[in-house]
Formats: sequence, C-alpha cells, structure tokens
Amino acid sequence: MQTDSPLQVSDEKINWVSSIPFIAMHLMCLFVFYVGAKPVDVLVCLALYVVRMWGITAGYHRYFSHRAYKTNRVFQFILAFVGTTATQKGVLWWAANHRHHHRESDSEKDIHSPIQKGFWWSHMGWIMCPKYEATRFESIKDFARFPELRFLNRFHLLPPIALAVALYFIGGFSMLVWGFFVSTTVLWHGTFTINSLSHIFGKRRYKTTDTSKNNWLLALITLGEGWHNNHHYHQNTANQGWFWWEVDFSYYSLKALSWMRIVSDLRTPSDSVKYSFKKYSAEDRAALNAPTAFWGAMAAQKKAAEGKVREALAAAADHLPTSAPAPQPMLKRQ
Ligand SMILES: [Zn+2]
Ligand SMILES: [Zn+2]
Repeated sequence: MQTDSPLQVSDEKINWVSSIPFIAMHLMCLFVFYVGAKPVDVLVCLALYVVRMWGITAGYHRYFSHRAYKTNRVFQFILAFVGTTATQKGVLWWAANHRHHHRESDSEKDIHSPIQKGFWWSHMGWIMCPKYEATRFESIKDFARFPELRFLNRFHLLPPIALAVALYFIGGFSMLVWGFFVSTTVLWHGTFTINSLSHIFGKRRYKTTDTSKNNWLLALITLGEGWHNNHHYHQNTANQGWFWWEVDFSYYSLKALSWMRIVSDLRTPSDSVKYSFKKYSAEDRAALNAPTAFWGAMAAQKKAAEGKVREALAAAADHLPTSAPAPQPMLKRQ
C-alpha cells in the first residue's frame, strides 16, 4: 500500500518535466484542426464530459469526500471507476485533498486558495506541483480500507488509458482526439473552476470563513457544484442547489438512483441551515457581498508592484547626471 511519506519537497514550485503529460493533453487538442469536427465525435466528447463530470461530482466529491449519501460496495466501485476515467488522479488522493480544502479553506494552509496564492495557482498550478503528489491517507482512512479503492487509487491511469484505447478502436484517431483529449481537457478546466472562479465570482448567501460563492453558470457546467457558498456553509449535503432555481443535475440523478434503491440516505440541509441567512442583519448581508478578499488582495499586490516600480525609477534617477555636460570649446587648428 502506498503510504503518505513525509513530503520531500517543501516549496511550492511547478515541476515542468513531470507536468509534461498535463501539458501534452492540452496540445493534443490542436489535432481538431487536422481531424475536423465529425458530429459523432463531438457528441462522444460531450457525452463523456457529462458522464465523467458526474463521476467527479456525484462520486469523488459528494460521496467519497463528503459521504453525503450511502450506497453498496459494487456501486461505490462504479462511482470510483467512472470518476477515475476523468483523469484527475486517484479517488483517495482527490477526496483526501478535498477534505483538506474544507478544513483549511482560504487559510494559508489551503493548497488551492485564489486568495492566498492567486488565480492560476488555485486553478492548475497546485496540480503541477510535486509537493501535492502523494495521497494524504490519514484524511481518507474510511475509504482506504477497501482494497479495490486502493488499487484504483494507485493505478489511476489504467481507466483513462483503457478509455482512450477503446475510443481509438471504436472511432479512430478523430474520436480519440475529441472523446479523450478535448473532452478531458475541457472537463479538467470545468472542474478546476470550482477551486478558482467559484471562490472569486458570484454571490454569497451564507457567512463562511472563506470566500466561496454561488454562481449559476459554474453550477451549469459542473452539474451543480457552482452553488459553492451553500456547499462551504454545510458541506455534507447530497444537494448543493438548495432552492428550486439552483439547478443541480448531480442531485437529480442521485434522487433518481434513490428511487431505484441504488443509493440511499441522501442528506439534505435542514430548514434551520437553509434559511439561516434570514436572521442576518442588513449590515451582515451587505458585508457578505462587499468587494471580496480576492479583489482586495489583488489591489494590494498591484499597489505594492507600482510602489516598487516607483522606487526603482527613483533609484535609477539618482544615478543619472543631473545636468548635461558643458559643451567643450572646439579646438582650433593652429
Ligand atoms: Zn471551495
Ligand atoms: Zn466539498
């Protein structure tokens, strides 16, 4: 079993060499200009986006990270398998890191906080950093006791490779490009928006110690994860859209699965949680949606950078001659 050995790398730097597969996946998308856009390939791309996003949201996130509902061991494996085809590393790695994000959200220890480390770091920089490669087994002991999940976590590249090979044999190179490279890259960035954009853009309904927001557009592209302020306020619910207008496709699917008795005990927020914002004062509400810490931090960084440029210019000016040298009289020829 893989252990969470003390991490050797202490600094947070991107390792460009180990990130080559991540970068290559993006570059492979350029082959769309070579293979064109056959409707069947684009449809497969879309379908695999939706199915695998579901594996991440209903599986990796709501089930494995938050235990928001119950299911049997076979369906638990299916959830982990579908999530693993999304090529976002192993299920135990993902869920353990995510639990850590909730424990430390937007504090200095949060591994992907846009407030602490900027937009690009929160979006994808942390994924390219060797410091966070190991699985934090101490945070996911409950699921690490299943050998089949440990196997999937360790050999997390097998399901994506099997998917890529299958696409190639079913639909040729063009289906591989659309169904795997394009679909996976878009799926990555769709998922990453929840770590980056949903801590920056949107509305806050609930007081949380972080800057999480509710954002309908992000909820649409992530099948319901964009109701991130709801989620940070009360993280263990199977639904993240708590009101009828908060579209949450992952939850609708879980509800349907509960009618089929494949999943059960879907946790939903109590009314006292859901309507707690009604007790907030007018000042509280105004403060909730005041310019956020992110924009404050960005403004402070900009000011500091401008200050440095001004200092550098002033220092350079000190070394410049204060006046032009006096013109020398021309030598007269004798
Ligand atoms: Zn978050
Ligand atoms: Zn969560």
